[in-house]
Amino acid sequence: MKEKEILIEVEDLKKYYPLKGGIVTHTTGHVKAVDGVSFAIYEGETLGLVGESGCGKSTIGKQLVGLETPTGGIISYKGNPSRTEKQMIFQDSYSSLNPRKHIYEILSQPMLYHGLADKGNIRAEMERILDMVGLTKSALGRYPHEFSGGQRQRICIAKALSLKPKFVVCDEPVSALDVSIQAQILNLLRQLQKELHLTCLFIGHGLGAVNYVSARIAVMYLGKIVEIADAGELFRNPIHPYTQALCNAAPIPDPNRPERGAALLQGEVASAINPPAGCRFHPRCPHATDICRQKEPQLSTVAAGSSHMAACPVVVARDGLAEERNGING
Ligand code: ADP
Repeated sequence: MKEKEILIEVEDLKKYYPLKGGIVTHTTGHVKAVDGVSFAIYEGETLGLVGESGCGKSTIGKQLVGLETPTGGIISYKGNPSRTEKQMIFQDSYSSLNPRKHIYEILSQPMLYHGLADKGNIRAEMERILDMVGLTKSALGRYPHEFSGGQRQRICIAKALSLKPKFVVCDEPVSALDVSIQAQILNLLRQLQKELHLTCLFIGHGLGAVNYVSARIAVMYLGKIVEIADAGELFRNPIHPYTQALCNAAPIPDPNRPERGAALLQGEVASAINPPAGCRFHPRCPHATDICRQKEPQLSTVAAGSSHMAACPVVVARDGLAEERNGING
């Protein structure tokens, strides 16, 4: 089998937003939206990014496509794709499309500007892209408000694809849609990823939709990645207590999924301005010990040779997973 190649590598990424206050506006602190995150995305893969609202998922997405500049860290891309080759699809399809332009203008202007079509073939090219996302050419003469939410999200997907991206961030693309429509859009995204060999970061706040489209999943809590593993492995063996709670809350019927004492999450997510010392999850964690309150855990492999990483040495040590996995892997 062909060796997987890394398309994007992120090392110690940080994004701090300044907090302004006082009569003469000055910086009174920072929201540490992303606080030292490292991961890689392989070519042609969809990496899922999951976590509660406000934990920093969109912020990571925006740094990856170049909409914002990181406060620290390194993002490296193989082959250095141009700005147009990195696209983002947002949750709110309505505010992503100019309400005063019809779809012909919305789609054609960027393509013509970036030289991806010319006056001679633009119409045919737009019709081809609309067909790919399940819309007909009659869409071209209409305005965004004339479409349903699901159709509008298809137009946003068409707009992103029209710029021939190598990498797409999908930021909760189905969260605002009716449940019955969500599956259609997820199916479309999955089909397009495969046909176009797209590399994607798929952001969601629950594991259900993320699991449907992602080969691997990274779990985020308060500006940090706390666990990352192949999707199947993550569900079978969630290590971090936060991941365990997310798995318990996910509506995925799996008779083989081990019972984990129905640990559902208690309490509120802490502040990203003053995150708790030690493990950021410790105030909500049923397994927290003194060491968790003092020492920040590092994301590390749960067993030698495994690609499954978690930032909870307490659970790894307690459950003896290292020995068990060594047996499986070796
Ligand atoms: P998520 O996508 O996980 O819901 P975000 O990345 O949108 O989270 O936000 C992470 C944190 O950063 C939140 O506390 C949010 O309020 C804050 N934040 C996001 N964008 C800005 C901004 N432009 N200025 C100040 N704070 C921001």
